Amino acid sequence: MSERIFLGIDLGGTNIKAGVADENANVISKVSIKTHRQDGVDAVVQRMCEAGREAVSQANLDISEIEAIGIGAPGTLNHKTGIIIAPPNFPDWQDVPIRDMVSKQLNNLPTTLENDANVAAWAEYWAGAGKGCDSLVMLTLGTGIGGGIILNGRIHRGFHDTAGEIGHMMIKVDDRPCVCGQTGCLEAYSSAMNIAKIATEAVKAGRESSLKKVLDAGQEITCKLIEEHLRAGDKLAAEIWDDACRYLAIGCIDIANVIDPEMIVFTGGMAKAGDLLLNAVRKHFQEIRSYVFSGIIPKLAISKFGSEAGFIGAAGAAKLARDLGEI
Ligand SMILES: [Zn+2]
Repeated sequence: MSERIFLGIDLGGTNIKAGVADENANVISKVSIKTHRQDGVDAVVQRMCEAGREAVSQANLDISEIEAIGIGAPGTLNHKTGIIIAPPNFPDWQDVPIRDMVSKQLNNLPTTLENDANVAAWAEYWAGAGKGCDSLVMLTLGTGIGGGIILNGRIHRGFHDTAGEIGHMMIKVDDRPCVCGQTGCLEAYSSAMNIAKIATEAVKAGRESSLKKVLDAGQEITCKLIEEHLRAGDKLAAEIWDDACRYLAIGCIDIANVIDPEMIVFTGGMAKAGDLLLNAVRKHFQEIRSYVFSGIIPKLAISKFGSEAGFIGAAGAAKLARDLGEI
């Protein structure tokens, strides 16, 4: 057997996911364990390696049969040095040389480190919704809005490794504040968490809606509930959803104007709404975009891999780094 096998490890704030994939993106094994980030850097890195070893063993392989390892991790990081600088969900982490720490515990295998949103986008480009596409941009609609950009068959990291911060494109300056310190960021209007926040504000301000029952019952309004109430005919839910999709469309128009990707892929909580999301974004995109470019619209799609894109893309990033001779 000459096929090369890669190990991907995705570090999340709650879970560590690891998996083994061959060079054609066939997933051979997958493992998910808790991160337990409160245990500190060394313990978390050890758990990443445990998850990696478990994935290799479940694939009936020996670690020596792995060609290379890819790590997907949150926050600001340096791809070249393999150092995580300051991940937002790991407040006690600073300048952690995670790539070399993992490699040392796993047979000194060649290892690469990428941003988690970048590896998720790479998974969709390599083998998912964007397979065969020339170029792709992915938006993760969760607590915030993350982004990954694939251009010319490569992960576009930018000069400072900070490209793809799509959630912080400012689309309505001096309006809603964003957690990043700016105002009017896309994610302040269109992330799953912020849509829930906007709906809660509207109901508390006295707008009529079936969502009031949720608050009256002492529960929180979530993006999923907004979708359910919309489908059941609630007008406020429909208005809030449509507004969020309009801002998303504005973000997509900006992306199209700057990058002109073949495809834009959505993932995360809000993307579970499928066509309800795609049709609304497409409608606003066509209505708002300049007539100069009318008819030019990127393909809009929902991710194939969902929450598994991280480890699959990390394995793919290891293959990419190997093919490019980086590791
Ligand atoms: Zn922001």
